[in-house]
Amino acid sequence: MALNPLVDVRDAKFVLFELLEVDKMGQKFPKYADYDRDTMESTYDLAEKIAVEQVYPASAPGDKEGCTYNPDTKEVKIPSMYKPALDAFYEAGFLNIADSTEIGGMGMPYAIGVACNEIFSAGSIPMLMYPGLSHGAMLLIESFGTEEQKKTYIPKMQSGEWGGTMCLTEPDAGSDVGALKTKAVKQPDGTYKITGQKIFISSGDNNYYKNMIHPVLARIEGDPKGTKGISIFIVPKYLVNPDGSLGKFNDVTCAGIEHKMGIKGSATCTMSFGDNGDCIGYLLGEERKGMKIMFQMMNEARLGVGMQGLALSSTAYMHAVTYSKNRKQGVHVTQMLNPEAQSVTISQHPDVKRMLLWMKGYVEGMRILVYYLAHNLNLSHVAQGDEAKEALALAEVLIPICKAGNTDTAVLVTSEAVQCYGGYGYCSDYPVEQLMRDSKITQIYEGTNGIQSMDLTMRKILMNPEQYNYQVWRKRVADTVKAARGVVEDKYVDLVEKGMVKLDEVIEMMKKQMAEGKFMHLFMNATPLQQAMFMMSMAWVHLWSLTITTPKRKALVGDKKGAELDALLADNAEAAYYNGRVLSSQFFLGAEFPKYFGKIEAILWGETAVLKASDPCFTGAPLE
Ligand SMILES: Cc1cc2nc3c(=O)[nH]c(=O)nc-3n(C[C@H](O)[C@H](O)[C@H](O)COP(=O)(O)OP(=O)(O)OC[C@H]3O[C@@H](n4cnc5c(N)ncnc54)[C@H](O)[C@@H]3O)c2cc1C
Repeated sequence: MALNPLVDVRDAKFVLFELLEVDKMGQKFPKYADYDRDTMESTYDLAEKIAVEQVYPASAPGDKEGCTYNPDTKEVKIPSMYKPALDAFYEAGFLNIADSTEIGGMGMPYAIGVACNEIFSAGSIPMLMYPGLSHGAMLLIESFGTEEQKKTYIPKMQSGEWGGTMCLTEPDAGSDVGALKTKAVKQPDGTYKITGQKIFISSGDNNYYKNMIHPVLARIEGDPKGTKGISIFIVPKYLVNPDGSLGKFNDVTCAGIEHKMGIKGSATCTMSFGDNGDCIGYLLGEERKGMKIMFQMMNEARLGVGMQGLALSSTAYMHAVTYSKNRKQGVHVTQMLNPEAQSVTISQHPDVKRMLLWMKGYVEGMRILVYYLAHNLNLSHVAQGDEAKEALALAEVLIPICKAGNTDTAVLVTSEAVQCYGGYGYCSDYPVEQLMRDSKITQIYEGTNGIQSMDLTMRKILMNPEQYNYQVWRKRVADTVKAARGVVEDKYVDLVEKGMVKLDEVIEMMKKQMAEGKFMHLFMNATPLQQAMFMMSMAWVHLWSLTITTPKRKALVGDKKGAELDALLADNAEAAYYNGRVLSSQFFLGAEFPKYFGKIEAILWGETAVLKASDPCFTGAPLE
């Protein structure tokens, strides 16, 4: 297939097979023995075909048509063009290619699953929200449901006949989930009557699925306040008869949908449970274990949003490259004084090259981060002993970095893509303005990036016994530095090494603040720390990449320069790939990563204005 507008497939395969070597997992773990590189590649190629031919064409029309709500029937319609693409997605089995075969999955390594998800999501984030949420709900039932619950719900959710959601948020319980008011009252038959309202529920109601299965967080009457008193219930829109057919309506209604800045094809619903006192919920797992259960699913869900950040950035970059290689404007900088000079494509202007290389560096770094995170979550399940323990520790640190870092970056990359297009980029006839609008929500849902940063700083690092998670992460960076010596130019290796020394300084300072009980100082610096660790992670994975791409580039390109090099690159796609991969890593390390040291200095500087800034110092804020 020719270059697609979604993902640089060559790069995805580089990360999967040259960097992570997922095709060799079968040699170590028998459950992957059937999956060789050919099988994995053909699965990925099929994902690319469906994403490019069916998902992506529905993206712009889906954004224009959006979702509609009928207040009389209380039903929601999603963009009409989504159905055939979603059908193709489900029919090819892409809902759960990395899940166990017992629930209809293909049992492939997680990294392949996330790579396929990247290309589908790059085709249309809002469309992929429907199966994405359903998949999360289905895995909850698989992990915590009774045999009866699994039998009742999983097969139909797996086939795409029924869908699922995640019902956490309420008007007064957003980041603070523990403040929820949705109530559950136990019935003599062991079921629960549910009453309450949930807001912002993605896919809450829609005309694609025949039934919706809502995992709902609620408090059983009399249970303690806060997160300790929360339980989780399966609440279907329609009850299910013993023979598996749809039964009576379960008093679950959609009270309206949001009109949003982006992801317009994804229905964001206000859901009312039990308006008529007739909504039945079935306990999932044990009473008062709702938050614990949800937390176990959060790793996958947050990885999913980090992947969305990558997917949006990837397609924004691909569009910007294509546009820049075609748009002619202005003469070459070396011909500025020549009145006869012909105009050149904007890709030849140094500032546009800089923008493209900047985007390329981030996209490629984020891709390694996301696939590597999925790979470690995978190892935490299939490996044994220390290997599994370290993989989980690494994943724990990488999850908030990846969720917050990738999504913050997606907003910047999609904006830079608009910049490459100039005025056309700002217009809805071109795809990048939609990507910029779609990207913003990824910083907000699944725990805002502020909440991710606090999770990283406190739970994942400072409160983790002896900072074990951080030490594992640190050692991986040190191993990469060691492996890069003698392969990659010293100036890049030194920079990454110096970066870790400075980060250690920050962690030591924070440990001291923790010991002194200076919590305000710690929370004030949570986001700066997260942003610094994201930059450090990007630098690390680029150095890792260079240890592989530098010798490969050398073998293909040798010492060729100028016209001779250009001729080779025009003719040899592999040489062009490695050459480009080396340059984007060098650009990231040499031109972007030095900014990291400023971020570190800003933390170490110890400015305390934030701590002194009480409400009245913000002019205009009402004092209630
Ligand atoms: C399009 C869309 C889809 C969504 N899909 C779903 C879904 O499917 N299911 C679901 O349950 N929810 C969903 N949500 C809800 C989403 O997860 C919440 O909006 C998000 O968790 C933030 O909650 P909030 O909007 O109440 O903001 P708030 O919690 O009020 O936060 C406002 C700001 O204050 C900050 N803040 C809040 N508390 C703290 C604190 N303790 N310390 C520091 N900073 C803090 C936040 O970081 C944020 O910047 C969706 C939202 C949208 C817009």
